[in-house]
Amino acid sequence: MKAKVYFASFRAGRKESWLNKLEKLFYRAGLEHAFARGDLVAIKVHFGERGNLGYVRPQFAARVVQLVKKHGGKPFLTDANTLYVGSRSNAVDHLQTAIENGFDYAVVGAPLVIADGLNGKDYLNVTVNLKHFREVKIASAAYHADALIAITHFKGHEATGFGGTLKNIGMGLGSRSGKQMMHSDLLPKVDPEKCTACARCTRWCPTGAIRVAEDHAVIDERLCQGCGECTVTCPSEAIAINWKTKPDVIQEKIVEYTVGVLQNKEGKYGFISFLTDVSPDCDCWGWNDAPIVRNIGMLASRDPVALDQACLDLVNREAALAGSRLEGCAAGTDKFRALYPRIDCERQLAYAEEVGLGTRSYELIEAD
Ligand code: SF4
Ligand code: SF4
Repeated sequence: MKAKVYFASFRAGRKESWLNKLEKLFYRAGLEHAFARGDLVAIKVHFGERGNLGYVRPQFAARVVQLVKKHGGKPFLTDANTLYVGSRSNAVDHLQTAIENGFDYAVVGAPLVIADGLNGKDYLNVTVNLKHFREVKIASAAYHADALIAITHFKGHEATGFGGTLKNIGMGLGSRSGKQMMHSDLLPKVDPEKCTACARCTRWCPTGAIRVAEDHAVIDERLCQGCGECTVTCPSEAIAINWKTKPDVIQEKIVEYTVGVLQNKEGKYGFISFLTDVSPDCDCWGWNDAPIVRNIGMLASRDPVALDQACLDLVNREAALAGSRLEGCAAGTDKFRALYPRIDCERQLAYAEEVGLGTRSYELIEAD
């Protein structure tokens, strides 16, 4: 059976602003049925890395907040801390960056909650029993919320080809150590030059694999399970985050984390994606390059796989914009393969369908 994906273009006029079109999309996709009165509703957004302006504008999140409140839900805006050291790797920096980017209560009308807490250690181990992970580490506020609405900026991504709803949820709501496990297939290593022998990492290692010997920490590879807790704990960045993983593997891992996030929310989730400022790279950089295609529109669905597939198809249908990194790339060509030739970005969609997160088969319905 085909999933329904609703689409609204950015054509607007005196009687219909983009915000009103978003509201229409919300109702057409039935997002008011994704939560009950009194439910705590997590609205997953990307608050934007400092210097990057590709994120979805806070005014759109504010309209979703209004609609959730109107139907009796208790919304909060959320995201989890990042693995890399940028402007969002702990809750203090993350909230500061969010406010600088316009996600203030006065604008969005809802509190901001950093889903994995002050330093990324508030998470639950959720059993999924899939190919890569038996358990995944899900940010606690995301897991404990009664319902989830994800607002996603669809764009390119260096590790996965494109970043859409699956990545926004799976990678976005994994804890910091969960992100480490998705990003790396290799065990961490200590840099003796940077290590100050403070022993902080030893207190967080769940298997006792790391200890301080003489003047620096050492990892016993027989005991280490690669959970990444030490890498995100070290204040001196002495434990290297190993970013190496195969593109197919990271995509499958993201899907398994998405299963973990949605596992306790049967029927209580909905998704909105924006095909605006479709940048060639991830939003986690402190800049965003010129968009590769025109602003196409907004989409909403109750099926995250169908939604990502529809976004991918709509982008690929476009001719690349003059002045962008893909200038000259014709309509109908695979934009993300052109950007990242070694990545088959459709692996995330195929695997998500395989594990039952949704279907790639969809009906695109104009909500205008
Ligand atoms: S990766 Fe996990 S198990 Fe390995 S040393 Fe670090 S904290 Fe311990
Ligand atoms: S937390 Fe970092 S600096 Fe401290 S002992 Fe561990 S590796 Fe060394």
